[in-house]
Amino acid sequence: MEDATGAAWTYADLDNAATALGHVLTAAGVRRGDRVLIASENCAAAVAALFAAWRLGAVAVPVNARQSAVEMDRIIAHACPRVLLFTSDVSKDAAGHALHHQAAPCLGPWGGLDMVRAPGDDLPGDADVAVVLYTTGTTGDPKGVMLTHANLRFGGATSATFRGMTSHDLIYGVLPITHVFGLCSILLASVHVGATVRLIPRFDVSAVFDGLRRGITLFSGVPQMHALLMAHAEGQGLEQLGSDTLRFVSSGAAPLDPAWKRKAEAFYGVALQNGYGMTESTAGIAATHNAIGDPDTSVGPALPDVEIRIDDAVAGGGNGTGEVLTRGPHVMKGYFRNAEATSQVLGPDGWLRTGDLGCVDDHGRLHIVGRCKELIIHGGFNVYPPEVEAALNDHPDVVQAAVIGRARDGDEDVLAFVQLASGAQLDEAALRTLWRRDWPGTSARRSTSLQTVCPPRPRARSSNTS
Ligand code: ATP
Ligand code: MG
Repeated sequence: MEDATGAAWTYADLDNAATALGHVLTAAGVRRGDRVLIASENCAAAVAALFAAWRLGAVAVPVNARQSAVEMDRIIAHACPRVLLFTSDVSKDAAGHALHHQAAPCLGPWGGLDMVRAPGDDLPGDADVAVVLYTTGTTGDPKGVMLTHANLRFGGATSATFRGMTSHDLIYGVLPITHVFGLCSILLASVHVGATVRLIPRFDVSAVFDGLRRGITLFSGVPQMHALLMAHAEGQGLEQLGSDTLRFVSSGAAPLDPAWKRKAEAFYGVALQNGYGMTESTAGIAATHNAIGDPDTSVGPALPDVEIRIDDAVAGGGNGTGEVLTRGPHVMKGYFRNAEATSQVLGPDGWLRTGDLGCVDDHGRLHIVGRCKELIIHGGFNVYPPEVEAALNDHPDVVQAAVIGRARDGDEDVLAFVQLASGAQLDEAALRTLWRRDWPGTSARRSTSLQTVCPPRPRARSSNTS
């Protein structure tokens, strides 16, 4: 494990650091089932803190230090941790939170951590739960997803096996380990096979670009990271990354645009795999395993031991499309201290409702068409934002498009926000023709077109982005 502080830890070093920190946590009153909050960016000390908590049977609550104080306080109030740990040495944000909570430095072989002992709450602990991960709440209040040790073992092992990882791999840990993708698909997958992980505290495009060319064999990011890396390369007049060691690149956590997938493969020189999952499913549900240039736009077949089912009786469903449900060893135990929210998504039969709309093709590959809550119903017909975004992004003059529904006169308009490439001549009328839906099966054929929003062109400088 390597990090930005210059730490270069063997697994034996990690073991020692976790043991030493475990003694400190025990002395601070941490017992089985207690929560230990770790407010951090990616670094070796945060990894030691995770393993120290797990050794004691405590529940780790990793939180991205970049959350605001208000968000942090909400999580603390809900999780009632016995101890709060801040990786102040490597993160200004963590240092700010530590100051706010009057934490005291506690230095050791694990690196710099600030610590505060909270009275905690004697909530009934659950020895099986390894982490509580608070979701960002893009679709509601943050909820604490409880993942068990069995969930994490499965998630880490599946990611590692699926990618054929070995102890010779060097994986780029750019995704935060406070989020399920960074935690399972990067950190725990590496631990599973004894690979080396290079932990990066935050995404700095030029640093990541340079780092990628230095021995990295696996890189996973969100679509935005791939897009920024390609734009950075373009700015330097480079068409390709030019790494001899990179053998696996993947994208996940958000829809992957087919146009970006093509560009990214040319850039990296290897296939770009798509992976689909969520916090409630310990990251992975499905993943592609394609050769370079494969036009497949699915998120792949279900991972081994994972079941998928489509419920087409939901809004936005029909014709084989519906809400994606999943069952298996990856499904969370439930939401921490929120039985009501748990019962809304997790049935007694073990099926988890993902809130995503999708369908399964003849090859058993899952296609995500949108999210139940973001579905636009226009004139009674379903419009899935990612489908419209893909049609717009496919045009060479479009850098990026985002589509939402706008309520109007009891109906919903399809509204697109579009960023154009430098010097592009496309106007609104031309943009509207890029996506048009003629609805089949209606006698008088109806069609739907787009409303577009383009920011005004800057006046003084030669117009580029508009
Ligand atoms: P919240 O549940 O609080 O609104 P969130 O759902 O964004 O937050 P995550 O669990 O990180 O939090 O994200 C999971 C969601 O991301 C999935 O439900 C799905 O909508 C989307 N997603 C993940 N991977 C993909 C993918 N490969 N393609 C399309 N969508 C994806
Ligand atoms: Mg979600």
